[in-house]
Amino acid sequence: MEMNSNTTTMYCKKQPTKEDFEVKQTFSLVAFEIEQIDEWKKEHDKTCPYANKFIPPVGDRFTFCFSPSYIGNFIKVKCFCGHECNIDSNW
Ligand SMILES: [Zn+2]
Repeated sequence: MEMNSNTTTMYCKKQPTKEDFEVKQTFSLVAFEIEQIDEWKKEHDKTCPYANKFIPPVGDRFTFCFSPSYIGNFIKVKCFCGHECNIDSNW
């Protein structure tokens, strides 16, 4: 029975410390990437069923995915309709 109580202690969730809250990771878009996204949006709006429509639960219809790598961020923009755009970075 003693073993069981030790095991329970081992799996106890660590309480978050002040440092845990201070560690942040942020992602940003550079002008070159914003230009590419704007161009894609303009083209996509011609065929997207949600173009210029307000989607109450979602707000903006675009989702940005950032995948960090050693050679830069891979950025994917996804529209509410399901279409995706991969952004080429200058690396
Ligand atoms: Zn769309």
